[in-house]
Amino acid sequence: MLVGLRAPSPITVVKKGKTGKNSIALSWQEPDRPNGIILEYEIKYFEKDQETSYTIIKSKETAIIADGLKPSSAYIFQIRARTAAGYGGFSRRFEFDTSPYLEASSDQGQVPVIAVAVTVGIILLALVTGFLLSGRRCGYSKAKQDPEEEKMHFHNGHIKFSGVRTYIDPHTYEDPNQAVHEFAKEIEVSCITIERVIGAGEFGEVCCGPLRLPGKREMLVAIKTLKAGYTEKQRRDFLGEASIMGQFDHPNIIHLEGVVTKSKPVMIITEYMENGSLDTFLRKNDGQFTVIQLVGMLRGMASGMRYLSDMGYVHRDLAARNILVNSNLVCKVSDFGLSRVLEDDPEAAYTTRGGKIPIRWTAPEAIAYRKFTSASDVWSYGIVMWEVMSYGERPYWEMSNQDVIKAVEENYRLPAPMDCPVALYHLMMDCWQKDRNSRPKFEEIVGLLDKLIRNPSSLKTLANCSNRVSNLLVEQESGECTDYRSVGEWLETIKMGRYSELFMESGYTSMEVVAQMTLDDLRRVGVNLAGHQKKILNSIQEMRVQMINVAVPI
Ligand code: AMP
Repeated sequence: MLVGLRAPSPITVVKKGKTGKNSIALSWQEPDRPNGIILEYEIKYFEKDQETSYTIIKSKETAIIADGLKPSSAYIFQIRARTAAGYGGFSRRFEFDTSPYLEASSDQGQVPVIAVAVTVGIILLALVTGFLLSGRRCGYSKAKQDPEEEKMHFHNGHIKFSGVRTYIDPHTYEDPNQAVHEFAKEIEVSCITIERVIGAGEFGEVCCGPLRLPGKREMLVAIKTLKAGYTEKQRRDFLGEASIMGQFDHPNIIHLEGVVTKSKPVMIITEYMENGSLDTFLRKNDGQFTVIQLVGMLRGMASGMRYLSDMGYVHRDLAARNILVNSNLVCKVSDFGLSRVLEDDPEAAYTTRGGKIPIRWTAPEAIAYRKFTSASDVWSYGIVMWEVMSYGERPYWEMSNQDVIKAVEENYRLPAPMDCPVALYHLMMDCWQKDRNSRPKFEEIVGLLDKLIRNPSSLKTLANCSNRVSNLLVEQESGECTDYRSVGEWLETIKMGRYSELFMESGYTSMEVVAQMTLDDLRRVGVNLAGHQKKILNSIQEMRVQMINVAVPI
């Protein structure tokens, strides 16, 4: 939220328009006090009493048609406006019903079936045309969200991809309490029994015990408490985590059950993760898992991170200590917050620029100039991979933070952990590319790990032992241009040796032929990761420049 600007006041007038068996048209009036130019409206709706499964549509107009609804059902609608100052409060809840029969409109009476058929035809045509012409993404459905599949809905002349939603920074709310209640359900304290303490958080004890919600099966939950004597800021920061967590719905992200704010102590209730945090869990079970089990855990975390990056959320503190593990070895990303995440992390150290950063897990550009992005999360993910494959070893051992910064800056990287498959070590090294655009995306990491899981023999080759001397870092490629005696040597030098065989099989056996390669050629050879394509093409480009320089007589 911008200082000095006020968010728009809530919308008070919402009207129902044409109603169909599966749709309701809505229109509304601008808020009484917009306090600026309205950039868009957000319309949240759900079937009555089914609040956990809601849809959000964004619209620049003051009217929409909510479709894909059930016939003869009551739906609740809430609308809010956004200006440069952020979101205003939601309107009160408006309840409207869909119609029971094949009627196009409640106020027009019966419409001939042929007209309905024509409408459906037009909608389908618009849907296909819209799909071809527009990639616009403007809505999501929380319950239906499936990262593997983007579901489309026709909405107001736009295509709505309901698999995509964006994270809303709770800071954009004028009143942080409103954000909490927007994204987190209030739980009656009488439904919770605190049984035992399981950990210590920055704001108070973390406990566990059963949660008994009316009409639901009893479940074990973790209960984070806010200790007595807190300041208003501490309460806000504590509940800020719930406002963030409550926006996520993914099997590899810790699930928020709700909050207790109406009584003391204030609590955050999440699913209970039997095996606690990943770093301690790995240290306790050193050498106990198969490579496939470890890769499965890594795959889960990458999938959770793909979801977060798709939502536009940058974690900034991804580390094994911030991953929780359940009894089925499912790993879930946890520890969400804004500034507080890093304040809370004992690993975070103050940098010369004043911020607190967990140096060993953080990408160089984030340390140097606070450039935190999903690409810097990918760097941290590479460090988590290293922690997992070394069963909870401390990254860079006892080196000082200053030495770590210097070594990384000089292109030194962590060596492969003991018994680490080379394919996984290559992936770690890719995550630690200096150029953040050359790092793989979480999407690609998930794809690659899936491939390795499907083809376990690809995990048999272990990383070169000479790369594993403890305390000694290995050097990443320097990017210098040299004369290469063979395609294999060139690929090795740029750390792409894994493609040697594929190049040979596709007939790229000499540097002269390689120098002519295009992106399509690379794809045909089987280089599918964008970061690798870029790296190889850059090197080819450098080679071409060198060849020209050599060819031109002085
Ligand atoms: P946190 O404040 O989130 O860092 O939590 C402190 C400690 O409490 C963690 O390191 C875990 O050991 C434990 N913990 C937190 N949340 C959970 C949970 N959902 N399930 C099990 N243990 C948890």
